[in-house]
Amino acid sequence: MNKIFLSVLLLSIRLAALAQPFHLPTANQALFEKGGEEKFFVGTTGHSWTSGCFGCVRSGGWRMHKGLDIKCLQRDQRGEPSDPVMAAADGTVAYMNNRPALSNYGRYIVLRHSIGGLEIYSLYAHLAEFVGGLKVGQAVKAGEKIAVMGRTSNTGEVISRERAHVHFELDLFYNDHFSAWFKKHYPREHDDHGIWNGQNLVGIDPRLILLAQRDEGPRFDLARWLRSRPELCRVLVRKTGFSWLKRYPMLVRDDPALPRERIAGYEMALDFNGLPFQLIPRAASQMKGAAKYQLLSVNEAEYAKNPCRRLVTRRGAHWQLGREGINLLELLTY
Ligand SMILES: [Zn+2]
Repeated sequence: MNKIFLSVLLLSIRLAALAQPFHLPTANQALFEKGGEEKFFVGTTGHSWTSGCFGCVRSGGWRMHKGLDIKCLQRDQRGEPSDPVMAAADGTVAYMNNRPALSNYGRYIVLRHSIGGLEIYSLYAHLAEFVGGLKVGQAVKAGEKIAVMGRTSNTGEVISRERAHVHFELDLFYNDHFSAWFKKHYPREHDDHGIWNGQNLVGIDPRLILLAQRDEGPRFDLARWLRSRPELCRVLVRKTGFSWLKRYPMLVRDDPALPRERIAGYEMALDFNGLPFQLIPRAASQMKGAAKYQLLSVNEAEYAKNPCRRLVTRRGAHWQLGREGINLLELLTY
């Protein structure tokens, strides 16, 4: 093979890999097959595969499931799941919980990735065991085995052999001050996982990302994908300097009309799961009222589709921030 041809070939393979930052975490690839959903997702007991998807898919649409429950393909002699679980992208190990009794995720691991400069996390739950020697801070490659699928969890209802799956999430990170916020808000509860508590990780739908990646090829752009989330509501917060702004500057919009005064707060667009995907700086003169948080608008069509996080509620004709919405804004801006 001619040398130039070879280097062009290698470059295009590398570019193709760059264009596909995320991979599925197990050998189960039925997500990409037409009509493959039944082979890919595990529903909850007595419910269809859709209850294993991301979104308002549980309790008649009123409970959020923040990841994908991916069906097991391999079992050992005892019928236990044995699928290797692989890193979804190049990254580093951020957290490992090796005490399954301390989480509804059971034994779980969180990886940190940087995709086009955007910090994103993947989480793998209900694992049987981690790969020997794996430790926090270690670099992993996309497709590298990190664990074995299992059924660990601390919930009353155990995961049956039948329903064996890996719970897989892609998340953005709310706040570096999570532990202080948690202590203040839940003084009687113990924070076993510090900043790696699932509450501090805001999920996005991995299925949508994987399919967008496949369809858009090299044009796929994660930041642009995030900025184009369907909007549930728009809020105004009288807070500045919170960690989301520093971590996700690509989601903060430049406002050329901003008066030349100090920024006093942000107008934010939130998706139904509480992901602030657009933040617009606001000066004091642009902000009405003195409330710490103000609900500016609600997209009723989006609420009708995805109400389960209860971020906003309606009283008669009037919309307001729900307790969950206020809780989320407190955590985000703490
Ligand atoms: Zn799950």
